[in-house]
Amino acid sequence: MVFISAHSDTNYKHVKLKKDNEFYIGHLDNYVGVYSVMKAYFSGELGHKHVRIELTYGEETDFEGALEVAEEIEHNDLVIVVDVTATPTKKDFVIEKCVSPIVQHFIKDVLKNYEYDLYGDCPDPVSNLDEVEIYKNKTKHYFSLGLPCEGGDYNLEAVRCKIKSVDKVSMALIDICKNYDHFIKLLN
Ligand SMILES: [Zn+2]
Repeated sequence: MVFISAHSDTNYKHVKLKKDNEFYIGHLDNYVGVYSVMKAYFSGELGHKHVRIELTYGEETDFEGALEVAEEIEHNDLVIVVDVTATPTKKDFVIEKCVSPIVQHFIKDVLKNYEYDLYGDCPDPVSNLDEVEIYKNKTKHYFSLGLPCEGGDYNLEAVRCKIKSVDKVSMALIDICKNYDHFIKLLN
């Protein structure tokens, strides 16, 4: 099973978003992660029984939603946490906390045509706490799929994210799910 998890709670009590040709500028954590996952969903191309999407609650407080989801994760499942990241990059997205050699191999095969950085650790200077910390107790096969946000602390203020990053993250999710058979082969 592929679990795609994006937290849907936020720290914001009002809406703040502008858009120019290249960027979304405003409150993005984690509207932009949810939006990317929904773009993948509404492409109509994720319709496989092995894909599960969870828009979780409680991430900003005590990870309550992720704890519930984790109860159903098994050790061979692939878990993708879609969230903002402040890790500096010129690429379209950043993969963090990807420690499994199998998952690294899978990602390199499947995302050949994408521009991204891949880390085993989490260089995000704003926060290295995300839902991966919950899910990694259930499976070794996980990573954080980060939408690069710059210009401040995404927990507190407006930041900016490339519109292209949203499109590429959404396409990457589709390609990952479509190639699930390849992941299963690498597991065996
Ligand atoms: Zn977040």
